[in-house]
Amino acid sequence: MDFKGKRVIVIGMARAGMSAIELLMKEGADVVGVDVKEEGMLEGADWLRERGVKVVGGGYSEEMLDGVDMVVKSPGVEMTDNLVSEALKRGIMVIDELELAYNNLKTDEVIAVTGTNGKSTTVSLIGHILNVAGFKAFTAGNIGDPLSAHADEEAQFAVVEVSTFQLEAIERFKPRIGILLNITPDHLIRHKEMENYIDLKFRLFDNQMRDEYAILNMDDAIVWDRKGRVKSQVLPFTRGLLEGDGAWVDDGFIKVSIYSKPVEIIDTEEISLKGPHNLENCLASALACFIAGADVEKIAEGIKTFRGLPHRMEYVCSINNISFYNDSKATNPASMEMALRSFEGDIVLIAGGIDKGVDFSHLRGLVSEKVRVMVLLGEAREKMAKAFNSTTKLVFSESMEEAVEKAFEESQGSGVVLLSPGCASFDMFTDFEDRGERFKRAVRLLNRSYGGS
Ligand code: ADP
Repeated sequence: MDFKGKRVIVIGMARAGMSAIELLMKEGADVVGVDVKEEGMLEGADWLRERGVKVVGGGYSEEMLDGVDMVVKSPGVEMTDNLVSEALKRGIMVIDELELAYNNLKTDEVIAVTGTNGKSTTVSLIGHILNVAGFKAFTAGNIGDPLSAHADEEAQFAVVEVSTFQLEAIERFKPRIGILLNITPDHLIRHKEMENYIDLKFRLFDNQMRDEYAILNMDDAIVWDRKGRVKSQVLPFTRGLLEGDGAWVDDGFIKVSIYSKPVEIIDTEEISLKGPHNLENCLASALACFIAGADVEKIAEGIKTFRGLPHRMEYVCSINNISFYNDSKATNPASMEMALRSFEGDIVLIAGGIDKGVDFSHLRGLVSEKVRVMVLLGEAREKMAKAFNSTTKLVFSESMEEAVEKAFEESQGSGVVLLSPGCASFDMFTDFEDRGERFKRAVRLLNRSYGGS
């Protein structure tokens, strides 16, 4: 795409939007940045104005589209946004920031990861393995570092986290190796129907050529049943056994195969991350890195040395035999389920937050089996109390600090206190990171009051 002299509106001026604006400026476009936030709230607005970018805060009107050649939206901006729908009506091309970045990328190859859960972990793990294996690779995208900010970076691999929000507006974007980890209900308030959500996830593969790769979770029926939609080479991964190419577990070892040549990668006991979900992330990552050309020993070393990301099953500390885990990033029932499955039982669970329109009732059996007490927080607590009624003891709490104290009391000297909320965080916290930090701070304070450091 040639942007020289083209008039482009960028909607949304947070991290992704700002990176898109900077990229468009470099490409010689005539850029207008707009946002619903008031101008005073837009960081970097003055910096942009000094460089000739028009900035409009506090909303936008349709007339702004007059004479515009293209609209670039931030991932957070919905396709039903007024300006987006009007642009589409007028036949103006609307692309996501990801698409803009892709069209200007200097990297040789893209590896992309999507799914309801596990994207950031898998992207970071793949980036880590590729670096251990001596490749120049960077991670970007939905993980919090927009791809546009890396457009000029010369590397062998861009490992990109892709969300459905971004896939809503792609044109040519495609990975050479694409991974779909899983699909469970999430973001239904935005995507309305589950089928829309599934359809968007599969768009990751729509532009691939036959000789490119789609790594799909064979244990996830929603994903695997739709493999026929994919035109590239489908490679399954499974926690069970497999005949043929893909990644699987055989007698406690991760194995991968392409071109009918199976190789052993690592003993699952040596995986640094906890839980069955992380085994899945390792299977998909090992296969992707093997296809990318990493040595088997380096893949094993990468899996062994990867320390995981904060707020995902993060061990905080132990107080009087009780281990505290921070899984604040668990914002839907599926990730909460995986967290519960990662422990034998004896869990005091801190859960709740903002309801995203999803159902929890299928977790009743698991909760009654593994959770001794559930401490409920936030807006969704009544709904969750109803969903888990009579499965376990339920306790309400007003703040994170109170939740930690109550959880500690309820644990009665053994087991695990786990923050895995299953809900979004914006009712009481800025984001999941803020929620996780507040949890860790409360745990550390408690630890100190018991003589820990
Ligand atoms: P995402 O980027 O897709 O939100 P993260 O890696 O940040 O994924 O993890 C989000 C939450 O999901 C965490 O609670 C984590 O423990 C859990 N999780 C990680 N991998 C998986 C997986 N493969 N399946 C289900 N849950 C997972």
